[in-house]
Amino acid sequence: MTIKLDATNYSVVVTCTKCPWWYGFADHKAGGWRVGARHEERAHPEIDQARRALDERNRRARHAASQRK
Ligand SMILES: [Zn+2]
Repeated sequence: MTIKLDATNYSVVVTCTKCPWWYGFADHKAGGWRVGARHEERAHPEIDQARRALDERNRRARHAASQRK
């Protein structure tokens, strides 16, 4: 795991194990993965962990939405 999310009641702090000086904020976990994926794309193009996590979340969200009826 390179991108890590630390969720509190108020916000999500996004950190990168390879860049201790870098961090980002988001309102919720999906936003946190988006922030992480953006950092990963810029700083670690060889890693796709956060982008895959984001894809997986989107896929599951779409699936959940289609099950809701
Ligand atoms: Zn990094």
